[in-house]
Amino acid sequence: MIVLQGQGVSKGIEYGSLYFYHRTNTQVTQQTVEDTAAEAQRLEEAKAKSIAQLEQMAEKAREEAGDSAAELFETHAMFVEDEDYTGAMDELLEEGWNAEYAVQQAGEQFAAMLAAMDDPYMRARAADIRDVTQRLLNNLMGIVEGGIDADHPVILAADDLAPSETIQLDKSKILAIATQGGSGNSHTAILARTMGIPAVCGLGDALNESMNGHAAYIVGDTGELIFDPDADTLAALQVRQKAQQEQRELMRTMVGQEDVTLDGRHIKVYCNIGSPEDVDAVLTNDGRGIGLFRSEFLYLAAEDYPSEEDQFRAYKEVAAAMQGKTVIIRTLDIGADKQVEYFGLNREENPAMGLRAIRICLNRPEVFRTQLRALYRASAYGKIAIMFPMIASVWEVKECRRACQKVMEELKAEGIPFDPEVEIGIMIETPAAVFIADELAPLVDFFSVGTNDLTQYTLACDRQCNDLGKFFDPHHPAVLRALKMAADAAHKAGIWIGICGELGADLSLLPTFLAIGIDELSVSPTAVLPLRAEIRRSIASTCTLDMLNS
Ligand code: PEP
Ligand code: MG
Repeated sequence: MIVLQGQGVSKGIEYGSLYFYHRTNTQVTQQTVEDTAAEAQRLEEAKAKSIAQLEQMAEKAREEAGDSAAELFETHAMFVEDEDYTGAMDELLEEGWNAEYAVQQAGEQFAAMLAAMDDPYMRARAADIRDVTQRLLNNLMGIVEGGIDADHPVILAADDLAPSETIQLDKSKILAIATQGGSGNSHTAILARTMGIPAVCGLGDALNESMNGHAAYIVGDTGELIFDPDADTLAALQVRQKAQQEQRELMRTMVGQEDVTLDGRHIKVYCNIGSPEDVDAVLTNDGRGIGLFRSEFLYLAAEDYPSEEDQFRAYKEVAAAMQGKTVIIRTLDIGADKQVEYFGLNREENPAMGLRAIRICLNRPEVFRTQLRALYRASAYGKIAIMFPMIASVWEVKECRRACQKVMEELKAEGIPFDPEVEIGIMIETPAAVFIADELAPLVDFFSVGTNDLTQYTLACDRQCNDLGKFFDPHHPAVLRALKMAADAAHKAGIWIGICGELGADLSLLPTFLAIGIDELSVSPTAVLPLRAEIRRSIASTCTLDMLNS
């Protein structure tokens, strides 16, 4: 028996085989071949396979992120058949070189030619050609990049996964996630919790590619990855699996029940989602609304700024599916660990404290305006609320509100329907916002506390860093007192306050949240029913603020 110990970041137990996520590092060798016709045939097959993959990706992108995300893949499919590009490959094949070499050389020449052009649009196409060239090479060499080339769900193993990588994954193929790095607040962990699958981070080098294909138990509660369990361990794991199943069935009895304590305190239990695909999980788990829709998925899934139309369609789809229940959409939170190349952001020493989230929007009014127009247009089809991330100053909120006002005036003049009563809220995730919460509260309709970032900034602990262990303590009295300060300011101004950071699902803190007077908890869809069960067992009037003291 081998047990690897990491940090459990999403609960549950699963058994399956490990599948390593591959990033391509293609080594092409230059060789002469005898049978040039057979080589040409190999290339034709790789081209056909590439086109089929790209058409499939275009379809997936259209469903998840709209037409402009799909167009990219359609353009790539056209490149595969471009006569200048493929003509250069054919010439090299005729000279007797192997197909891999021909593709790589033609790709490099073509990309260099585009990169040297004056027209910025053509220059940008060089990256597309490199991408297409890589795809052709992968298909020639049988390399599976990123995707999961298995016909059954697997335990996905990786060093770590960037948000832009996770968006590409076929979620139906993932049983669980195991990573070398990462932490409980990384977006890999958040993704796992949203999907309701076990995840273990921080396994270090002990997790390595030699384990590819090996079967293991993954235990999200304890952070273990267990190979070849001995008889006793196996029996214990099977008992836990059975208990997990029974617990899930018990939780189903919570569907349709009110979110109310034994002494009648109501609390809204909403869900966090990252894409329209997640709405199914919200409905299955009976979430009463969406408290955080991380809209940056649209930007991460695309290779260029998503258009107003694409965004409108995605927001409308979610608003309509939720049938009048609140859908709080956060404006884009790009930057820090969520990097998008086409934003052309400079490299930063401290990206978590750099140009990110609302700072980008306020610096790029056109990008902001496009998103706000899409949000307001979608508000005609459901109960949308808008939330701004990373607020630190009063002037930022005023500028956001002015931008909203301007967009509403534009839409009115254009005769486009929208809801003029859309609620506007801000995230409380910087200590600055906590300290001036009394000045911010009168400017908005609600607060939602982003405890992931609030903990990071309050404790000066990088949320991405797995080595910080006990130092990254979201239960720290400083974080809980910050929550209380923000809640008191909100209630004094007559607005509601929720929590949309991961702490919201921490059942051990529910009595503290009730004592503070938190009005809403927005959690992963799979955390809704356990949270509801706990709320229904609680007595709010007996809850204390004890945890606020060290
Ligand atoms: C947070 O910081 O708590 C939050 C909800 O936002 P994100 O995790 O997307 O930064
Ligand atoms: Mg945040």
